[in-house]
Amino acid sequence: MRRVLILGGTAEARALAAELVARGVHVITSLAGRVGNPRLPAGEVRQGGFGGPNGLAAWLRAECSDALVDATHPFAARMTASAAEAAALAGVPLLALRRPGWREGPGDAWERVASLHDAAALLTAPMRVFLTTGRRSLPVFAPVTGVWFLARSVDPPEPPIPGNVQVILDRGPYTVEGERVLIRGHRLDVLVTKDSGGAMTTAKLTAARELGLRVIMVDRPALPPGVPVVCTVEEAFSWALDSH
Ligand code: NAP
Repeated sequence: MRRVLILGGTAEARALAAELVARGVHVITSLAGRVGNPRLPAGEVRQGGFGGPNGLAAWLRAECSDALVDATHPFAARMTASAAEAAALAGVPLLALRRPGWREGPGDAWERVASLHDAAALLTAPMRVFLTTGRRSLPVFAPVTGVWFLARSVDPPEPPIPGNVQVILDRGPYTVEGERVLIRGHRLDVLVTKDSGGAMTTAKLTAARELGLRVIMVDRPALPPGVPVVCTVEEAFSWALDSH
């Protein structure tokens, strides 16, 4: 039986696990273990870090894994770097599954920046910002004086929550109407987001376009050199079934 490790935490990882399990592949999905109540994929699940590239390489050897699919979120850069190093150490074929990034449509004028810090540097008083860059990014933004934030995340950020930040907990998927209500209700004028891509969180971009919000888009970190990458679950499925 083929044994595949999927580094997960995304809808694509869950879809891939479901398809491979249905084909009789032995699938283990690895989750970081940070989200309180994660959506669980088909097949086996393990949770928690591996202890860096050497830990993951040892795990791959011990589990006799035939293939490794890095289907983590495009911004999970440390895990992705660790996967590349571990796959090389253990001699296990690696594929990255990355959903495509978002593209500007007619009427968009996104400001693209390379990092969260670069995004924060563009903010000036008296803005009201819709922040969807994840709960751990709050310390980068909250110190910007005179700016108010509506920060949306799946799990609560670490306390204390600064006075200029209101947190809403939601894991999506979101609707354009819901995003419109949120933007209007909180009188938001700027959206700061990461180029996560995918359909589940795209509604905010549509609503921002309609309502004329300024959009600051944080670009994805680069993949490690030499790692083959596909954009669709179908391509990853075919690759994982192949012997390499
Ligand atoms: P990260 O910064 O790249 O990873 C930090 C460390 O967490 C890694 O070095 C690894 O620890 C552990 N880790 C991360 N993903 C793991 C996984 N799938 N299985 C086992 N260990 C994992 O990652 P992150 O940005 O915190 O993301 C954590 C997880 O959340 C990922 O699985 C990702 O797919 C998911 N996620 C992330 C985002 C985002 O915006 N970053 C959004 C949605 C979902 P060791 O070095 O000890 O192995």
